[in-house]
Amino acid sequence: MSLDHSLAGTLRPDGPSPSAWTPLTGTAHSIALEVLLDGPLPRSELARRLDLSAGSLTRLSKPLLDSGLLVETTGAYDPTSGRPTRPLDVDERAHHFVGVKLTADTAYAVLTTLRATVVDAREAPLPDRDPAAVAAGVGALVRDLSATEPHGVRAVGVSLGGRTAPGGLVDSARYLGWERVAFGPALEAHLGLPVVVDNDVLSLTRAEQWFGTASRCAHFAVLVVGVGIGYGLVVHDEVLDRPDAGVGLLGHFPLDPHGPLCPEGHAGCADAVLTTSALEFRASMALRRQVSVAELLDLAVTGEPSARRVVDHAARCLGTLLAAVGNLVMPEKIVLSGENARLADVGREALTAGIRAGRSPHASELDVDVQHTGFTEWARGAAVTAIRTFVLGHRR
Ligand SMILES: [Zn+2]
Repeated sequence: MSLDHSLAGTLRPDGPSPSAWTPLTGTAHSIALEVLLDGPLPRSELARRLDLSAGSLTRLSKPLLDSGLLVETTGAYDPTSGRPTRPLDVDERAHHFVGVKLTADTAYAVLTTLRATVVDAREAPLPDRDPAAVAAGVGALVRDLSATEPHGVRAVGVSLGGRTAPGGLVDSARYLGWERVAFGPALEAHLGLPVVVDNDVLSLTRAEQWFGTASRCAHFAVLVVGVGIGYGLVVHDEVLDRPDAGVGLLGHFPLDPHGPLCPEGHAGCADAVLTTSALEFRASMALRRQVSVAELLDLAVTGEPSARRVVDHAARCLGTLLAAVGNLVMPEKIVLSGENARLADVGREALTAGIRAGRSPHASELDVDVQHTGFTEWARGAAVTAIRTFVLGHRR
């Protein structure tokens, strides 16, 4: 969808209207984006980055300051001249967004600022997966969150496991049982707000790129291990957004030729050894009772031998997968996320052995950033998709 800022409403139209992030073009847009992503920035640094004279920067940034989009901060010193300076920053609390992550049975939502700082979080069960019922439930959740923000909300991002298309369309979402569902328009009808719908792993990758630990990397991968295996890739500062991105292709990457079969019949693929259901099945067999992944990891930490064996096997497989990603795409960094990312900590030695076995001795050391995230992080990713649409003026 294209987001027309002049038409973009807020949920609280009667409230005081904040300065709008009007559709900026050219250098003014570049100034605003640099400050949003890296601010506060001294004017000298901004001028250097954008190859502008001091006079041009002053002229171009004045309307941005007048509109309240940019603000001057105090108390800093110019690193080159040593003189006091007033770096430029954004007023991140001037604009708020809601991100919603849909799972098979729950909607997780966060309210964020323009810089994706989470201000509030809520969740609601989804007892009925019918799209109209989900839209009504998510609409109520968004209204509930927005009520705490007097300036209202600018846009809403929704993310889910599956394939999406422009126009808020969900092509397919296996967990929800949806095919060709116009979820974005349905939710917009409830809220009167722009809604962006995106694949959840792509949303998380976009969030990492703008506001995460990989924000200074032009080339990085995001690997998610949880209910499924997710994979996002940023190449030359661009999120690789291909139709197959929502299919979960890396889930069938072979990791252990002697491992169990996945539902598609692959022996020891990532889906068969690293997903929540695979880990729980293996743990329950080893311990002869029902065991959750969290309990499995806790038992391994205490030294329970069966749990340790299961964890070390999975961690070694995860190392093999990380090595493969490193070998195939040569990223500056791999962000490891998802509910089962803790495997990398509890099974650190096995993970390292798996990485080492899969890498050339001449290869550089893999930079793996393990994130211990819950569903709030997924919902924040959805909010970043909305923020990007708002700032860039188009869906991506
Ligand atoms: Zn498979």
